[in-house]
Amino acid sequence: MIDKKILIPGDIIGAEEEYLPGNGAYCDKEGNLLASVAGVKEVKDRELEVFAKNNVNQISVGDVVYGVVKRIGSSMALVIIKIPRKTGLRYPDIDPFTGLHVSHLKRGYIESIRDAIHIGDILKAKVIKYIPKLELVDISTEGKELGVVLAYCSRCKTKMVKIGPDKVKCDKCGRVEHRKLSTDYGNIDKEVLEWK
Ligand SMILES: [Zn+2]
Repeated sequence: MIDKKILIPGDIIGAEEEYLPGNGAYCDKEGNLLASVAGVKEVKDRELEVFAKNNVNQISVGDVVYGVVKRIGSSMALVIIKIPRKTGLRYPDIDPFTGLHVSHLKRGYIESIRDAIHIGDILKAKVIKYIPKLELVDISTEGKELGVVLAYCSRCKTKMVKIGPDKVKCDKCGRVEHRKLSTDYGNIDKEVLEWK
């Protein structure tokens, strides 16, 4: 049975007492089973496997896609890929997702992933890798037109306004935050505002 909750590397998925680590899983010293890749969990006999389940056969390398940042880890963010309705593509049963690695956020050094994106942000990104067999998608936000197109205030969740290169401000509470902004910041369809 497949559990639809999307995991990122390091998430605890079970205990060694009950299961064996299958593909995409490993065991730590404490006897926990952890995910080693981003994906969904499946129990196969006594084995726990973690694998991508994306059904994104219409995606190709070079495509520009949108995404919602759902979780942030130390080196990777979990991004749900969104396909705008106007493309006419069929939407997969499980939201396609990807692990956006810190090295693909922008050119040059970046201290923390949170200097570029926050949970809830909407991104415009390019598909840089797609392995159909593994249903694995990698995206990048390097490049002027790519990056955050809509940022929400970390304090009060209000939409933020661009006030400078890679800087946004919340008009409600006054908070200023950093982002890797797209030149298209704020230039979005109504549909995007519904994305969660
Ligand atoms: Zn605010």
